[in-house]
Amino acid sequence: MSYASTVEAYERLKNNEKAEDVIIDAICKVEDNKDLHSVGFGGLPNKEGVVQLDAGYMDGNSGCFGAVGCAENVKNPIKLAKSLADENRHFNNFIVGKGAYKYAIENGFETRDNLTKEAYEKYLEKKDSDIKLKSYDGHDTVCFVCKDENGLISACSTSGLFMKEDGRLGDTPIVGCGYYADSKIGAASATGVGEEISRGMISYETVRLMSEGYSAMDACKKALAKLNAKMDRKLLSISVIALDANGNYGVATNCDFAFSYASENCEPKAYFVNSKNEIRELSENDIID
Ligand code: ASP
Repeated sequence: MSYASTVEAYERLKNNEKAEDVIIDAICKVEDNKDLHSVGFGGLPNKEGVVQLDAGYMDGNSGCFGAVGCAENVKNPIKLAKSLADENRHFNNFIVGKGAYKYAIENGFETRDNLTKEAYEKYLEKKDSDIKLKSYDGHDTVCFVCKDENGLISACSTSGLFMKEDGRLGDTPIVGCGYYADSKIGAASATGVGEEISRGMISYETVRLMSEGYSAMDACKKALAKLNAKMDRKLLSISVIALDANGNYGVATNCDFAFSYASENCEPKAYFVNSKNEIRELSENDIID
């Protein structure tokens, strides 16, 4: 999620556009896709039938971050998150609930009712059924880590867990959990069950491990393995992606996961990775968005 955005980002970075612009458009493309039910427009609602969106953004050069949580009726939460990561803003970087909507209005961001007919029908079906939700039902954050000649950025956006409690925040808007970037070391972003990701501060931990000399790949694996070792039960679904300061990628997951990657030496490619961290390249026919 999403190969198409990766291809577009690759073309634009080749034309010397900035990572900070490219990453926002990549994520907006996913937020605007009504057929993806775990991010932005078309995202599945909470247990009150309301779509509450979370997003986070961190600039690896300045260390500034911005985030919104439980944002309702905001068109592109990632745009708000980025604007809150402004270097000249020393506080009020993380805004939730009604405040996020107010911030959007006051600062000229677009609004939209993000609940689609299809998502509402899924909600009604689930509400009226006795089938309990499984841990990884209906969620999947869009995570991007992006590098240009100036440095690294990490950003992510989600509608969170389907049928979550009103006001629940997962990892996505929390710096160090859903996203983290330090241009001198690396950047990481995570998807999966937010409460699990937060227990291990997976994005921060992945970057910290890179600072100890682990490659991006080994840092992702080690961050997950460390959290796993602490648990007295099976760790619920988590996947993490990373880039080091030279643009090499890493990935680790404990469930089936797809990701895409491109660099100046590598045309965009999509991959599938399983819980044993075995990676295989996907063909054009396997890719749906
Ligand atoms: N991490 C998100 C959350 O817990 C969900 C996801 O990645 O699918 O809200």
